[in-house]
Amino acid sequence: MYSVTDPATGVLVEEVPNSTAEEVEAAVARVHSGYQAWRQRSVVERAAVVKRAAELFAERADELAAIMTLEMGKRINEGRGEVGIVVDIFNYYADHAVELLADEPVAIKGGRAVITKNPIGPLLGIMPWNFPCYQVARFVAPNLVLGNTILLKHASICPRSAAAIETVLRDAGVPDDVYVNTFASSRQIPAILADPRIQGVSLTGSEQAGISVAADAGKHLKKTVLELGGSDPLIVLDSADLDETVKATATARMRNCGQSCNAPKRMIVLADLYDEFVDKLTKRVADFYLPGDPSDPETKLPPLASIAAADEVAEQIERAVRQGATLRTGGQRIEPGAYLEATVLTDVTPEMDAYYEEIFGPVVLVFKAETEEEAIVIANDSPFGLGASVWGTDADRNRRVADQIEAGMVYLNSAGGSQADLPFGGIKRSGMGRELGPAGIEEFMNKKSIRL
Ligand code: NDP
Repeated sequence: MYSVTDPATGVLVEEVPNSTAEEVEAAVARVHSGYQAWRQRSVVERAAVVKRAAELFAERADELAAIMTLEMGKRINEGRGEVGIVVDIFNYYADHAVELLADEPVAIKGGRAVITKNPIGPLLGIMPWNFPCYQVARFVAPNLVLGNTILLKHASICPRSAAAIETVLRDAGVPDDVYVNTFASSRQIPAILADPRIQGVSLTGSEQAGISVAADAGKHLKKTVLELGGSDPLIVLDSADLDETVKATATARMRNCGQSCNAPKRMIVLADLYDEFVDKLTKRVADFYLPGDPSDPETKLPPLASIAAADEVAEQIERAVRQGATLRTGGQRIEPGAYLEATVLTDVTPEMDAYYEEIFGPVVLVFKAETEEEAIVIANDSPFGLGASVWGTDADRNRRVADQIEAGMVYLNSAGGSQADLPFGGIKRSGMGRELGPAGIEEFMNKKSIRL
């Protein structure tokens, strides 16, 4: 069952039944039959449709933001900001389509060859609730431009976002057999992946979902892109203005109520700054991030996306404290709704679960490192490798540290961001493949070598 429950109140608003097996079959048949016509359209035509989608997303930003606030508790202003990035992504792929899909001549021994950029067919997208519009956009915009067709299974707590996105695309001119939303349950996914008409799958979500989908896709030799969890390190080497550094790093961690895969989750601070950093950060978190109504633009700390998510994060905090971590502030669930106090934990050691697991909520872990080298060791001592950030005033030193971080992305003096033209993705248990930028259009592309 898909359902909408307002996380600010815990009140169930709507239930949407799952698609039946027949409906799922019909959806697969649609994206399969739509593929031949869509791939035959010129790049310019497909780009024009994607460009129109960008305009419509911009026009409907308020409506989409309100849906996200209701479904998963996103602060209304963050929802509008999210739609802004969606617009950037659709514009980026529309504006760069011709250049990204141009034939590439290659000099070869004894002749000439060219690499052409072709679609591979109907794809399945499985998307999460934390950025209901942005996560879909990263997958959909490049693949529509490329000529693939898409069956989209959204998170079961986001049926209204799923429907609204499909409407935007339809109104922009995406044919109804080129992008199809399905309310399939995750139990129906193996059958979709087994279907020979589906050529690949992109999933953003938890490690468990990634493992399950990758296993099924592997069984049927389907190309897979996975964007999973992260426990990104944020290294503070020195600071020209510690108040500003604390403010900026707290903002990055608390964005989207801490429910971002690439939020900085482990602050690693060099010893000479550590005590002052922890004191200032604790004060900032306790005083500034006060819970409120997510539809009020003044609110700083909205609820988490669901009661289950809030309970899980509260349990992780409690377990960390039981295992010996120091709770500097926060930690308490607030009811009704899915609220959790913004939290700071210190003295987390490798013997505790919190050291290695991802905490998907408004919780900051702060670690002390005696040296730059130790900071790098702590940063890399994680099963994840999504993003990282390095903060300091010496550009050469920042870069030296960045080069040693095991992650798909490193940001210098900023954290947790994403932009249309910069590839996004991770290594280790954070997943495989890249989205956004030129790399994002290549994942489900047949780079065909033609020897001339
Ligand atoms: P899930 O991974 O369960 O959900 C993400 C998407 O995957 C949803 O559409 C979900 O469907 C689907 N899904 C779940 N299990 C399967 C499966 N076995 N086969 C196919 N599809 C599946 O995330 P949760 O909502 O449970 O969040 C749990 C944790 O995941 C978070 O605490 C966080 O650590 C991580 N996460 C990471 C995200 C990221 O941005 N990388 C985003 C969201 C979560 P359905 O909703 O129907 O279950």
